[in-house]
Amino acid sequence: MIWKNLYPNEYLDSAYDVDYEQLAALGVRGVLFDIDNTLVPHGAPATQDAIELFRKIHRLGLATCLVSNNQTPRVKPFADAVESDFLPNAHKPMPGGYRKACQVMRTDPAETILIGDQIFTDIWGANRTGIRTILVKPIHPKEEIQIVLKRRLEWFILLAYRLYGQKRVTKIFLPPYQ
Ligand SMILES: [Mg+2]
Repeated sequence: MIWKNLYPNEYLDSAYDVDYEQLAALGVRGVLFDIDNTLVPHGAPATQDAIELFRKIHRLGLATCLVSNNQTPRVKPFADAVESDFLPNAHKPMPGGYRKACQVMRTDPAETILIGDQIFTDIWGANRTGIRTILVKPIHPKEEIQIVLKRRLEWFILLAYRLYGQKRVTKIFLPPYQ
């Protein structure tokens, strides 16, 4: 059902709040990240916090890939700063880019998790690819008009998610393959 493909497995305040140790312990091997409004404000360069976050994740043995609909000039400098694989022009929410990103990380979708701030882009596409998802709150409230309109639709999805979804979706804090 389409609604279920729009629900994240978890909804947290920030990508910086995720318990990556726990994810690693549960068998997650790769993390896909959206950049804009997930890791930094829209268009901003990598911060020291982002650099340290990726160091910590890599130390846990997890692979990372930045999956962005933005182009190489935006994505590559960020990826270089955090020392991550990256996939620009990913055409989210089409599944192809997510699959390609898993190939880059050499992970199976079932042992991969995506962290992003947009339901209709990040979450929808990952769910369709069999990748578990964490939705986070956007870092910066000032957004382009097409994103603002999507946020209004997201509000309804999040309402439904709060009312019904949390009982239905498979929580990520379960061992994989269950
Ligand atoms: Mg984003």
